[in-house]
Amino acid sequence: METKKLPETGEGISEAARILAEGGIVAIPTETVYGLAASAYDTAAIERVFSAKGRPQDNPLIVHISDMEMLREVAAKIPKEAEQLAERFWPGPLTMVLPRGEKIPASVSAGLSTVAVRMPSHPVAHNIIKESGLPLAAPSANVSGSPSPTKAAHVLEDLGGKIDGVVMAGDCAVGVESTVITLCVKPPRLLRPGGVTLDELRLVLPDIEVDPAVLSEPEAGKPVSSPGMKYKHYSPRCNVIMVCAESGFADFVNNESDCGAICFRAEVADIKCPHIVYGDEENPKTLAEGLFSALREADNLGAETVYAHAPKAEGVGLAVYNRLIRAAGFRVINL
Ligand code: AMP
Ligand code: MG
Repeated sequence: METKKLPETGEGISEAARILAEGGIVAIPTETVYGLAASAYDTAAIERVFSAKGRPQDNPLIVHISDMEMLREVAAKIPKEAEQLAERFWPGPLTMVLPRGEKIPASVSAGLSTVAVRMPSHPVAHNIIKESGLPLAAPSANVSGSPSPTKAAHVLEDLGGKIDGVVMAGDCAVGVESTVITLCVKPPRLLRPGGVTLDELRLVLPDIEVDPAVLSEPEAGKPVSSPGMKYKHYSPRCNVIMVCAESGFADFVNNESDCGAICFRAEVADIKCPHIVYGDEENPKTLAEGLFSALREADNLGAETVYAHAPKAEGVGLAVYNRLIRAAGFRVINL
């Protein structure tokens, strides 16, 4: 099939909204990563999203809304913490897991009684939801397992010919997927770190807990709170190994034979093997922005093994660390 390249203008937005209302699937830009959108009410379109991505059926989707009225349509119950979080962080990169409303088909949530909801701040995403009048279920617009798309070109690389359209906008500002928390357990729990940090969440949820799967490998066979956390993710074809080191990263890769590196900007002068810079160590927001592009480019380094220098697991760095450790299949070297 032909994948239409739609402009990010009013016309492109109207066409995307029309295709979605007719049951099509369209990749749209958001401030986190590009999402592959479908009407959250259309079970056939949802089925197409899972199959285009090759996404495991037990990994639920996030529903994207444009206003609080839509929240009342998709969630069965809205606790007062959700109102407070919405007030502070929406529109923006925060997803809340709430009791699932009757109108949302079970397949959106992979059969769970909950639903994950987010109000994106990207104006194109906002206007497409608003014009279609539909909550949009939208996972990241990549083939399952590969790095999430932060550019329209990444979407075409993975899903060209498999989806009805892509809205061709610029690079995503945040660069990693949304922060996911659940309000369906007490105390509330961080399931996936993202652009909204733990310290920011604590201002509204002082007792929030961090799910163990955020920083380490879930135990085989044990149930996980967020099904997406059990999968290997974000991986290029080469072997990625995450390296935690206060100093000495350049010396380490220089002593390894036939490898590549994903590193911080300040290290470039010292690194002798093929490498990609993904941002500045002191500014983890830049690392989040550059991580997925760097992982996609890693295969062009021509090395079988690529060592990636991990940021400190704090602030936005926690989200980068969480994605990198999954890209590495939990292979970590501590220097
Ligand atoms: P993605 O669509 O790639 O951004 O991934 C969505 C993430 O949200 C996955 O890690 C899912 O496991 C998580 N998620 C979505 N819905 C729920 C839910 N109802 N309960 C817990 N986690 C969820
Ligand atoms: Mg994804």
